[in-house]
Amino acid sequence: MGKASRDKRDVYYRLAKEQVWRSRSAFKLLQLQEEFRFLDGVKAVVDLCAAPGGWSQVLSQHLCRLNETTHQPKVKIVSVDVQEMAPHPFLEIVQGDITKINTVKQILEKFNGNRVDCVVCDGAPDVTGNNDMDLCLQEHLLSAAYAITCCILKAGGSFVAKIFRGKNNAVTLNLLRTHFSKVLVAKPRCSRNSSIEAFVVCADFQPRLSEGASVGSFPLRDLDMKFYSSLSARQKTPFVACGKEMYDSDRTYSKQLGTDDYVIRNPAQSPISPPYAESIRVLSNKTVYFSITHGNKGDQESA
Ligand code: SAM
Repeated sequence: MGKASRDKRDVYYRLAKEQVWRSRSAFKLLQLQEEFRFLDGVKAVVDLCAAPGGWSQVLSQHLCRLNETTHQPKVKIVSVDVQEMAPHPFLEIVQGDITKINTVKQILEKFNGNRVDCVVCDGAPDVTGNNDMDLCLQEHLLSAAYAITCCILKAGGSFVAKIFRGKNNAVTLNLLRTHFSKVLVAKPRCSRNSSIEAFVVCADFQPRLSEGASVGSFPLRDLDMKFYSSLSARQKTPFVACGKEMYDSDRTYSKQLGTDDYVIRNPAQSPISPPYAESIRVLSNKTVYFSITHGNKGDQESA
């Protein structure tokens, strides 16, 4: 697939490049914020699974108003990802796996024991194509993000995270309802209908832990079971489609989209050391070997 082909098939990918967002995901956070306003008044926020950094850019654009005397941003944004992330003036970056305790410790250290107003997580596993497996991996990421949130979020704060829609959602949503007064599921219009992704938008954090547990306890182990059992498994969770109708994310647009001088741009930030780099290296070695042994024909066949 060439760049031009993706530009036609994925209008938000193209818009992200035109508007210099590091990823098309930036539009998802913009559309969620436009509807639910969870970033208003936020001073400290954690962006989990943040690379290449589209959501972090949105956060810094929304929240960083330069303090005129110190020229320091008044807000603190900590971006976390297992992959290396390119620096950005207003971000503090932690490279680590959010399912590992060491990463959790590093995030907590960044805030010196202070709590944050909001945690967002756009975490997605490398999708395998096996639906059950993908759902399971995604749930694992979401519960890690939820555990971190319970350790660091202020009472009254918000948590917004990606969820894959599937058969276990009712259990996950009830667990979220245990600590949040308001929980809903939203689908930004820039997220393809064909994709099983949606986002949980949880507001008003009210930690409800069993007696003797501290607020930083793991959300499942020290859950107030009485409260959890009182939640009806059949409780309906509102589902909201959000974001102004801009473009249809499932439609293929012609390259021009109203302009004759359309140019294909490079992404605002290419991945620094993506997991597929090793495959490219191996494949290009094969191509070199094939060219040496088969001459130019090899170049054509391997292209
Ligand atoms: N929100 C990002 C943006 O706007 O650029 C895009 C996030 S991308 C859809 C999903 C990210 O989840 C990837 O960068 C991936 O490295 C990260 N991820 C997956 N599993 C992770 C884990 N266990 N710990 C930390 N990051 C993880």
